[in-house]
Amino acid sequence: MSKTSQVILQVIVTLAAMITTGVWLKENIWAYPADNIYSGQNLFVLRYWFDSRVIHHVHTKEKLVALTFDDGPDPRYTPQVLDILKQHRVHATFFVVGESVQRHPDIVKRELQEGHEIENHSYTHPDLGKKNGAEILKELETTQKVIEITAGSAPRYFRPPRGLFNTQVVEIAQRLGMKTVLWDIGVEHRAFRDPRDMAYRVVGKAHPGIIILAHDGRLDRSLTVKALPILINEYQKMGYRFVTLTELLASAETSP
Ligand SMILES: [Zn+2]
Repeated sequence: MSKTSQVILQVIVTLAAMITTGVWLKENIWAYPADNIYSGQNLFVLRYWFDSRVIHHVHTKEKLVALTFDDGPDPRYTPQVLDILKQHRVHATFFVVGESVQRHPDIVKRELQEGHEIENHSYTHPDLGKKNGAEILKELETTQKVIEITAGSAPRYFRPPRGLFNTQVVEIAQRLGMKTVLWDIGVEHRAFRDPRDMAYRVVGKAHPGIIILAHDGRLDRSLTVKALPILINEYQKMGYRFVTLTELLASAETSP
Protein backbone atom coordinates (compact mmCIF):
# COMPACT_ATOMS: atom_id res chain seq x y z
CA MET A 1 0.00 0.00 0.00
CA SER A 2 1.37 3.42 -0.92
CA LYS A 3 1.96 6.05 1.71
CA THR A 4 -0.86 8.21 0.34
CA SER A 5 -3.44 5.42 0.55
CA GLN A 6 -2.28 4.58 4.07
CA VAL A 7 -2.92 8.18 5.12
CA ILE A 8 -6.34 8.19 3.40
CA LEU A 9 -7.24 4.92 5.17
CA GLN A 10 -6.19 6.36 8.53
CA VAL A 11 -8.30 9.47 7.95
CA ILE A 12 -11.34 7.33 7.05
CA VAL A 13 -10.93 5.09 10.12
CA THR A 14 -10.51 8.13 12.41
CA LEU A 15 -13.56 9.85 10.93
CA ALA A 16 -15.67 6.69 11.31
CA ALA A 17 -14.62 6.36 14.97
CA MET A 18 -15.44 10.01 15.62
CA ILE A 19 -18.89 9.72 14.01
CA THR A 20 -19.68 6.52 15.96
CA THR A 21 -18.62 8.16 19.23
CA GLY A 22 -20.66 11.27 18.38
CA VAL A 23 -23.80 9.25 17.66
CA TRP A 24 -23.36 7.27 20.91
CA LEU A 25 -22.87 10.45 22.94
CA LYS A 26 -25.87 12.11 21.33
CA GLU A 27 -28.13 9.17 22.15
CA ASN A 28 -26.80 8.34 25.60
CA ILE A 29 -25.42 11.49 27.13
CA TRP A 30 -26.66 14.57 25.35
CA ALA A 31 -30.17 13.19 25.29
CA TYR A 32 -29.89 12.73 29.04
CA PRO A 33 -31.60 14.08 31.04
CA ALA A 34 -34.53 13.99 28.64
CA ASP A 35 -36.03 17.32 29.67
CA ASN A 36 -32.72 19.05 30.15
CA ILE A 37 -32.89 22.62 28.98
CA TYR A 38 -29.31 23.35 30.04
CA SER A 39 -27.66 21.32 27.30
CA GLY A 40 -24.28 22.75 28.27
CA GLN A 41 -24.53 20.99 31.61
CA ASN A 42 -25.05 17.53 30.22
CA LEU A 43 -21.43 16.52 30.58
CA PHE A 44 -21.80 17.46 34.24
CA VAL A 45 -24.09 14.44 34.48
CA LEU A 46 -21.49 12.19 32.85
CA ARG A 47 -19.22 12.51 35.91
CA TYR A 48 -21.82 10.76 38.04
CA TRP A 49 -22.74 8.05 35.56
CA PHE A 50 -20.38 5.66 37.31
CA ASP A 51 -21.12 6.69 40.92
CA SER A 52 -22.14 3.34 42.47
CA ARG A 53 -24.41 5.05 45.00
CA VAL A 54 -26.60 6.36 42.19
CA ILE A 55 -29.07 3.89 40.66
CA HIS A 56 -29.70 4.04 36.89
CA HIS A 57 -31.11 0.58 36.35
CA VAL A 58 -31.30 -2.76 38.10
CA HIS A 59 -29.54 -6.03 37.28
CA THR A 60 -32.16 -8.73 37.09
CA LYS A 61 -32.99 -11.64 34.79
CA GLU A 62 -36.72 -11.14 35.26
CA LYS A 63 -38.62 -9.14 32.65
CA LEU A 64 -39.39 -6.26 35.00
CA VAL A 65 -39.74 -2.59 34.13
CA ALA A 66 -40.15 0.41 36.44
CA LEU A 67 -42.13 3.31 35.03
CA THR A 68 -41.35 6.51 36.92
CA PHE A 69 -42.98 9.94 36.66
CA ASP A 70 -41.37 13.23 37.66
CA ASP A 71 -42.71 16.75 38.32
CA GLY A 72 -46.25 16.01 39.52
CA PRO A 73 -48.76 16.11 40.98
CA ASP A 74 -50.36 18.22 38.26
CA PRO A 75 -54.17 18.37 37.86
CA ARG A 76 -53.78 18.73 34.06
CA TYR A 77 -51.95 15.43 33.50
CA THR A 78 -51.64 13.26 36.61
CA PRO A 79 -55.32 12.17 36.66
CA GLN A 80 -55.07 11.18 32.96
CA VAL A 81 -51.88 9.23 33.67
CA LEU A 82 -53.54 7.49 36.62
CA ASP A 83 -56.52 6.50 34.45
CA ILE A 84 -54.19 4.93 31.86
CA LEU A 85 -52.20 3.07 34.53
CA LYS A 86 -55.42 1.75 36.06
CA GLN A 87 -56.72 0.58 32.68
CA HIS A 88 -53.51 -1.37 32.05
CA ARG A 89 -53.14 -2.57 35.67
CA VAL A 90 -49.75 -0.96 35.95
CA HIS A 91 -48.09 0.25 39.15
CA ALA A 92 -45.68 3.15 38.82
CA THR A 93 -43.44 5.39 40.93
CA PHE A 94 -44.10 9.12 41.23
CA PHE A 95 -41.25 11.48 42.08
CA VAL A 96 -43.26 14.43 43.33
CA VAL A 97 -42.40 18.08 43.87
CA GLY A 98 -43.03 19.08 47.52
CA GLU A 99 -44.78 22.40 46.84
CA SER A 100 -47.12 20.71 44.31
CA VAL A 101 -47.95 18.02 46.88
CA GLN A 102 -49.10 20.79 49.25
CA ARG A 103 -51.29 22.26 46.48
CA HIS A 104 -52.77 18.94 45.33
CA PRO A 105 -52.71 16.43 48.20
CA ASP A 106 -55.79 14.65 46.85
CA ILE A 107 -53.95 13.57 43.71
CA VAL A 108 -51.13 12.10 45.82
CA LYS A 109 -53.68 10.26 47.94
CA ARG A 110 -55.22 8.80 44.78
CA GLU A 111 -51.77 7.65 43.62
CA LEU A 112 -51.30 5.82 46.91
CA GLN A 113 -54.77 4.27 46.91
CA GLU A 114 -54.16 2.88 43.43
CA GLY A 115 -50.94 1.12 44.47
CA HIS A 116 -48.32 3.58 43.24
CA GLU A 117 -45.24 4.71 45.08
CA ILE A 118 -44.50 8.31 46.14
CA GLU A 119 -40.88 9.51 46.15
CA ASN A 120 -38.94 12.76 46.61
CA HIS A 121 -38.16 15.14 43.70
CA SER A 122 -37.23 18.23 45.82
CA TYR A 123 -39.48 21.02 47.08
CA THR A 124 -39.22 23.73 44.37
CA HIS A 125 -37.48 21.81 41.52
CA PRO A 126 -34.24 23.86 41.48
CA ASP A 127 -30.85 22.97 39.98
CA LEU A 128 -29.36 21.42 43.12
CA GLY A 129 -25.86 21.54 41.63
CA LYS A 130 -25.99 25.29 42.24
CA LYS A 131 -27.25 25.17 45.86
CA ASN A 132 -25.25 25.05 49.08
CA GLY A 133 -25.55 22.29 51.68
CA ALA A 134 -28.16 24.08 53.83
CA GLU A 135 -30.32 24.83 50.78
CA ILE A 136 -30.10 21.24 49.51
CA LEU A 137 -31.02 19.90 52.94
CA LYS A 138 -34.02 22.23 53.13
CA GLU A 139 -35.27 21.20 49.64
CA LEU A 140 -35.06 17.48 50.45
CA GLU A 141 -36.12 17.56 54.08
CA THR A 142 -39.18 19.78 53.56
CA THR A 143 -40.38 17.43 50.83
CA GLN A 144 -39.79 14.40 53.09
CA LYS A 145 -42.01 16.02 55.72
CA VAL A 146 -44.72 17.11 53.26
CA ILE A 147 -44.91 13.60 51.80
CA GLU A 148 -44.92 12.01 55.23
CA ILE A 149 -47.88 14.18 56.27
CA THR A 150 -49.79 13.51 53.02
CA ALA A 151 -48.88 9.89 52.35
CA GLY A 152 -48.23 8.57 55.85
CA SER A 153 -44.67 7.42 55.24
CA ALA A 154 -41.43 9.05 54.15
CA PRO A 155 -39.92 8.37 50.70
CA ARG A 156 -36.91 6.08 50.31
CA TYR A 157 -35.79 7.33 46.92
CA PHE A 158 -34.72 10.73 45.69
CA ARG A 159 -34.41 11.98 42.12
CA PRO A 160 -32.65 15.31 41.55
CA PRO A 161 -34.50 17.78 39.27
CA ARG A 162 -33.29 17.43 35.64
CA GLY A 163 -30.84 14.77 36.84
CA LEU A 164 -28.42 17.51 37.92
CA PHE A 165 -26.59 16.92 41.17
CA ASN A 166 -23.23 16.52 42.88
CA THR A 167 -21.70 14.36 45.60
CA GLN A 168 -23.14 16.59 48.32
CA VAL A 169 -26.68 16.02 47.03
CA VAL A 170 -26.20 12.22 47.08
CA GLU A 171 -24.81 12.38 50.62
CA ILE A 172 -27.60 14.59 51.97
CA ALA A 173 -30.21 12.30 50.40
CA GLN A 174 -28.44 9.34 52.02
CA ARG A 175 -28.45 11.08 55.40
CA LEU A 176 -32.23 11.52 55.07
CA GLY A 177 -32.58 7.80 54.35
CA MET A 178 -32.92 8.04 50.57
CA LYS A 179 -31.07 6.46 47.67
CA THR A 180 -30.57 8.65 44.59
CA VAL A 181 -32.27 7.16 41.55
CA LEU A 182 -31.87 8.30 37.95
CA TRP A 183 -33.12 6.38 34.90
CA ASP A 184 -32.15 4.38 31.81
CA ILE A 185 -34.20 6.23 29.22
CA GLY A 186 -36.67 9.12 29.09
CA VAL A 187 -39.96 9.14 27.18
CA GLU A 188 -39.63 12.84 26.36
CA HIS A 189 -36.94 13.73 23.86
CA ARG A 190 -36.62 16.97 21.96
CA ALA A 191 -36.03 15.17 18.65
CA PHE A 192 -39.16 13.00 19.02
CA ARG A 193 -42.42 14.96 18.83
CA ASP A 194 -44.77 12.17 17.74
CA PRO A 195 -46.25 10.01 20.54
CA ARG A 196 -45.72 6.80 18.54
CA ASP A 197 -42.07 7.65 17.88
CA MET A 198 -41.61 8.56 21.55
CA ALA A 199 -43.12 5.24 22.65
CA TYR A 200 -41.21 3.08 20.16
CA ARG A 201 -37.88 4.71 21.01
CA VAL A 202 -38.37 3.47 24.59
CA VAL A 203 -39.72 0.10 23.41
CA GLY A 204 -36.55 -0.38 21.36
CA LYS A 205 -34.43 -0.05 24.50
CA ALA A 206 -36.30 -2.71 26.48
CA HIS A 207 -34.20 -4.89 28.81
CA PRO A 208 -34.84 -6.53 32.20
CA GLY A 209 -34.52 -4.03 35.06
CA ILE A 210 -35.01 -0.92 32.90
CA ILE A 211 -36.05 2.31 34.67
CA ILE A 212 -38.13 4.55 32.39
CA LEU A 213 -38.48 8.28 33.06
CA ALA A 214 -41.67 10.12 32.10
CA HIS A 215 -43.19 13.39 33.28
CA ASP A 216 -46.69 14.21 34.52
CA GLY A 217 -46.31 17.88 35.35
CA ARG A 218 -44.78 21.35 35.06
CA LEU A 219 -44.53 21.60 31.23
CA ASP A 220 -46.96 20.49 28.52
CA ARG A 221 -47.08 16.69 28.92
CA SER A 222 -49.89 15.96 26.46
CA LEU A 223 -47.53 14.02 24.15
CA THR A 224 -46.42 11.84 27.06
CA VAL A 225 -50.04 11.06 27.92
CA LYS A 226 -50.58 9.92 24.29
CA ALA A 227 -47.35 7.88 24.17
CA LEU A 228 -48.05 6.07 27.42
CA PRO A 229 -50.70 3.50 26.33
CA ILE A 230 -48.59 2.51 23.27
CA LEU A 231 -45.48 2.07 25.40
CA ILE A 232 -47.27 0.04 28.08
CA ASN A 233 -49.01 -2.20 25.50
CA GLU A 234 -45.76 -2.97 23.70
CA TYR A 235 -43.86 -3.81 26.90
CA GLN A 236 -46.69 -6.03 28.08
CA LYS A 237 -46.76 -7.80 24.67
CA MET A 238 -43.04 -8.58 25.14
CA GLY A 239 -43.86 -10.19 28.49
CA TYR A 240 -42.68 -7.38 30.74
CA ARG A 241 -44.28 -6.68 34.12
CA PHE A 242 -44.47 -3.12 35.42
CA VAL A 243 -43.36 -2.81 39.05
CA THR A 244 -42.61 0.00 41.48
CA LEU A 245 -39.01 0.97 42.23
CA THR A 246 -39.12 -0.81 45.59
CA GLU A 247 -40.26 -4.02 43.89
CA LEU A 248 -37.66 -3.66 41.15
CA LEU A 249 -34.82 -3.11 43.61
CA ALA A 250 -36.00 -6.07 45.68
CA SER A 251 -35.54 -8.26 42.60
CA ALA A 252 -31.98 -7.03 42.02
CA GLU A 253 -29.26 -9.65 41.85
CA THR A 254 -26.80 -9.28 44.70
CA SER A 255 -23.75 -9.67 42.48
CA PRO A 256 -23.28 -6.82 39.97
ZN1 LIG B 1 -38.18 17.19 37.30
